[in-house]
Amino acid sequence: MKRILVTGGSGFLGSYLCEKLLESGNEVICVDNFFTGAKRNIYHLMDNPRFEMIRHDVTEPLNVECDEIYNLACPASPIHYQRDPAQTVKTCVHGAINMLELSRRLKAKILQASTSEVYGDPAVHPQVESYWGNVNPIGLRSCYDEGKRCAETLFFCYHLQCALPIKIVRIFNTYGPRMHPNDGRVVSNFILQALKNEDITIYGDGQQTRSFCYRDDLIDAMIRMMNTPEDVTGPVNIGNPGEFTILELAETVIELTDSKSKIVRMPLPADDPRQRKPDITKARELLKWQPSTDLKTGLIKTIAYFDDLLKTAPEFCRGT
Ligand code: NAD
Ligand code: UDP
Repeated sequence: MKRILVTGGSGFLGSYLCEKLLESGNEVICVDNFFTGAKRNIYHLMDNPRFEMIRHDVTEPLNVECDEIYNLACPASPIHYQRDPAQTVKTCVHGAINMLELSRRLKAKILQASTSEVYGDPAVHPQVESYWGNVNPIGLRSCYDEGKRCAETLFFCYHLQCALPIKIVRIFNTYGPRMHPNDGRVVSNFILQALKNEDITIYGDGQQTRSFCYRDDLIDAMIRMMNTPEDVTGPVNIGNPGEFTILELAETVIELTDSKSKIVRMPLPADDPRQRKPDITKARELLKWQPSTDLKTGLIKTIAYFDDLLKTAPEFCRGT
């Protein structure tokens, strides 16, 4: 049994990671400041004697004893990370430093949840880990993109200077149950709009592409990455290489929900990447992993989750 720290553990991905780590018999310490996380995501874990919750902001130092650290604390959706951009940078940078210092003291393995956003609006397609990216350093998305890039830099500084056992995964768009209904991401927006028969809001012409990975596949890969030998540092792309236009996603959601919604166009936000698709050769080789859930199967499960949420906790969905 290991004692594992998960920062951002009450968020969409963090809460499912905590659940999986507990299922394998570990002790889990969940650290979160509830900026975008929700207590409802971890209620079902609170009675487990191997689960502990600490309300804490990772921009402040933290002192706990653990064997491994998964650093997920950071708002992931554009509307949330742009709400307080300076705080987003601090969470990425100071949060990384504080967790790396903790890892250094404890000699604990540490994994960073990085992002496909480090590639910005990519000129190389599909994206391979060796591509350095195309990021606007002063644009609307830069607090997140550059914050995450700097966190990767810090991870490698500590690895080279202090021989810290680091792991970096670059996560591509991930969806599934427990996404926050108000976080404005495309999958949750389209599903809720379709279930309520409201207009489906496509930003721009809908020809921009994304590759959508189902939550369970993603968390499986993340745990595999933590368990790789010490010389495997990454970065390793994790995502589903299936590539869809946003228009195709809207049409699929309408079909699966049997919705009466109409598609409407809205302005495209600044610096919105035109295309995104992971090259997962490295993940296949190093983690013996590939996603097993196709888009329709994952969407059906996510639609069922939001359908239930609308009926059982309508107040939580307000504002979408
Ligand atoms: P989320 O917003 O649901 O979860 C983030 C969690 O971090 C929340 O619980 C939030 O309250 C917490 N948090 C934020 N700032 C904090 C701080 N300063 N101190 C402590 N806790 C803080 O997002 P998610 O989708 O679960 O993403 C988790 C991680 O994965 C993030 O680091 C994100 O950048 C990364 N990621 C996610 C995706 C995706 O598609 N979901 C894609 C790429 C990368
Ligand atoms: N998008 C959209 N309608 C929405 C929300 C998002 O057309 O209601 C688009 C958005 O402009 C982007 C894509 O869907 O091109 C994915 O957006 P999301 O915020 O989910 O993730 P990210 O841009 O970070 O990949």
